[in-house]
Amino acid sequence: MPDGRAARDGRALPGGRDLVPAARCPRLFVAGSDLQFPVRRIWCVGRNYAAHAAEMGAPIAQPFFFSKPADAIVACPVTIPYPPETELLHHEVELLVALGRGGRDLDEGTAASCIIAVGVAVDLTRRDVQAVAKAQGRPWALAKGFDHAAPCGELLRVDGPLLGDRTLALWVDGELRQRGDVSQMLWSPAALIAALSRQVRLAAGDVILTGTPAGVGPLRPGQQVRARIDGLPELSFSVAEVNMAMSTAVDVAPEDVLTFWFGAPGTPMQAQFGLWFKKDAEQDQRMRVRFEATLQRAARGELDAWSATPRGRLALVLLLDQLSRNLYRDTPAAFSQDVQARQLCEEGITLGHDVALSPIEAAFLYMPLEHGESLPWQDKSIAAFTALAGRDPNPMLANFLDFAHKHHAIIVRFGRYPHRNAILGREDTPEEAAYLAEPGAGF
Ligand code: MN
Repeated sequence: MPDGRAARDGRALPGGRDLVPAARCPRLFVAGSDLQFPVRRIWCVGRNYAAHAAEMGAPIAQPFFFSKPADAIVACPVTIPYPPETELLHHEVELLVALGRGGRDLDEGTAASCIIAVGVAVDLTRRDVQAVAKAQGRPWALAKGFDHAAPCGELLRVDGPLLGDRTLALWVDGELRQRGDVSQMLWSPAALIAALSRQVRLAAGDVILTGTPAGVGPLRPGQQVRARIDGLPELSFSVAEVNMAMSTAVDVAPEDVLTFWFGAPGTPMQAQFGLWFKKDAEQDQRMRVRFEATLQRAARGELDAWSATPRGRLALVLLLDQLSRNLYRDTPAAFSQDVQARQLCEEGITLGHDVALSPIEAAFLYMPLEHGESLPWQDKSIAAFTALAGRDPNPMLANFLDFAHKHHAIIVRFGRYPHRNAILGREDTPEEAAYLAEPGAGF
């Protein structure tokens, strides 16, 4: 049976079709380059620092391993939901080693040469779930292997293991919680890889979280985590204020976002102006409950597949460029999805997705250009909105073009949007301060 053959060797047969879309391979970024590291599997090590082994109960004679699903990886900076089914989410800062090649029964020297990159990771743990499972003698896989359970920083490309004493530390809301040194590991990364290779065939794309020093402790909704290891890119993430996992029972689809934003088919666009342009805290809250989990998934790249179609791409842009401004009004997070939104916009123009949309839909696809604090993007914005107003005589589009010109003028004058300065912690220049004091200044 052809399908059986495909399943056995893992390859698609020529002409064969997948029953469901193939899963996205989670990726980590390699600092200072456009390289990404596709993650195959996540291996973790228990009690690799004596002080942490002591706080967990007892020291151990051999390293022991467990795993998380590869898609538990999330690239930082990121906001993650507080996981379900726990009231005791613990942080564990760890050195991550990424394998450029693998094998079986490796000696330590060969194992060391398999390491192609290193980074900082946090092994998030539902400690209460783990404790119950341990007490009952059951597997604690789900205490470690839940969604978003492995936030990771950018990787540093290396040639072999990371040598020397290097402090690793983790702060919660600025308070130092964990501090240790990678030299205190009971088993070195090379020793761990060698030991693990006696149990499984390791492969390029595998990552190993090498254990945590003492000081593990709880994270609450709304808290900010920062972690670093000397010489490696720092990691930061926050735990969402509301339980985003609870805010949507079923996954939101692109058409749900479009219907919310533009109304059901046939809705006059004027009926949507209140939604688009009014500052209204209650309205923002309704959007948050309905769409925050989806917005955060989009920000993490989990919904990239939506960009394959013009309407899916527009839904992503609405989440990352419009709803972000409602959900995170007057905070830096309102703008932190802007780069991603602009990339979706520019790529959409290149692919001709804008002309496949209705004019008013295309206007919102173009909006990330207007939001950009740089003249080249503003010039593109004017070009796009000018073409759009030429496509359709609807006065609403002339209005959008007028606004594009007003935004362009601000960037010509200041090079940035002065009304964002206070939110983003930027100092006003005297010229900006004078401008902001004018009635009706800013957007
Ligand atoms: Mn751990």
